[in-house]
Amino acid sequence: MPTENNQQGKLEPISQQNTTDQLKKIRSALLALRDAVILLNDDDGLEWWNQAAEDLLLLQAADKGKHIFDFIRVPEFRQYYQAATTPNDGDGVHDGVHMVSWRDPNRYLKCELTPFGDEKLLIIYDVTRLHNLEEMRRDFVANVSHELRTPLTVMMGYLENFSDQPDMPAHWRRGFELMSQQTARMNRVVNDLLLLSRIEIEETHELNYIDMTKLLTHVYDDAQAYNQEYGHTIHLQIDTYDGLQGSEMYLNSALSNLVINAVKYTPKGGNIAISWTKTAEGCRFAVEDNGIGIAPEHIARLTERFYRIDKGRSRATGGTGLGLAIVKHVLYQHEANLQIESVEGVGSTFSMVFPAAHIRSAPTN
Ligand code: ADP
Repeated sequence: MPTENNQQGKLEPISQQNTTDQLKKIRSALLALRDAVILLNDDDGLEWWNQAAEDLLLLQAADKGKHIFDFIRVPEFRQYYQAATTPNDGDGVHDGVHMVSWRDPNRYLKCELTPFGDEKLLIIYDVTRLHNLEEMRRDFVANVSHELRTPLTVMMGYLENFSDQPDMPAHWRRGFELMSQQTARMNRVVNDLLLLSRIEIEETHELNYIDMTKLLTHVYDDAQAYNQEYGHTIHLQIDTYDGLQGSEMYLNSALSNLVINAVKYTPKGGNIAISWTKTAEGCRFAVEDNGIGIAPEHIARLTERFYRIDKGRSRATGGTGLGLAIVKHVLYQHEANLQIESVEGVGSTFSMVFPAAHIRSAPTN
């Protein structure tokens, strides 16, 4: 006979009555839930729904069996639904899909589909509050960074003027040097924060043809200038003339961040290889170094803002802790992925994998 845990944790037989009571309870709980819950059959038709779903989708008893796409016509939802119900197409599906409510443009929804057997459970959450909070956070950071910019520029200007005075007392010189270094660092943090805010806030951005050979040569020249005090051997290998459809300013920043990191986190006299190659899925930009490497437990967190493995080292090399966060956002705009392979004490390879949809051959004229 089947058994179940009672309240004391002991096993006791499940009676028909117990099962019916429990089913009733589960049903009442689902009905009372403030999120919309919909059970879909193997043909993606509506099987069962709760009150919140009824209110959101304006459902009636006669809608039973009708296709879910008749009620949610948002293209992002269709795309997500198809991906979530296609076996092995797991990428990004677990996070659900966010969209503006089709009934009220001031409300934001998140849909999450869980297939089980031939059926599916669809839950629609109202994430308006979260969305608004996130927007407030973004605006706040952008405003603070913007407000700090002018005072910082004034301070940097005066500090430079004072530091140039030949008659400055020797015991003040060290203080002025430190103030100049720290204001320059603050300025870099503010500029990176502003760049991040701009990338996040811009919903659409202009995409143009990018000549990767030209861009990579530019990034390589900058790296060589930065490399003077490190003395690494930097090698650039371009295997394809393919370019990208993208935003040149943002990509320049993302590529430079990876290359400058390789320079910074490799002990003097190291080897750095930058490459641009064609792959089966599109094209790949990679930066390989034989530097300090990264322990596995840090890798997943590297793209978080201000996440550094060694704060002292990052500061000493002029890092803002925002470089990889910028890389992540830029790649998201270009539907590209960041891959990090690293062995502590041996070196790291950071790669950007661009999908075929963003690859462009050089214009012929
Ligand atoms: P930072 O300004 O501190 O360099 P990033 O966001 O660019 O900030 O990088 C985050 C952290 O990732 C760095 O502080 C460093 O610990 C680690 N890191 C990035 N690139 C490398 C690399 N090529 N080798 C070793 N560690 C790296």
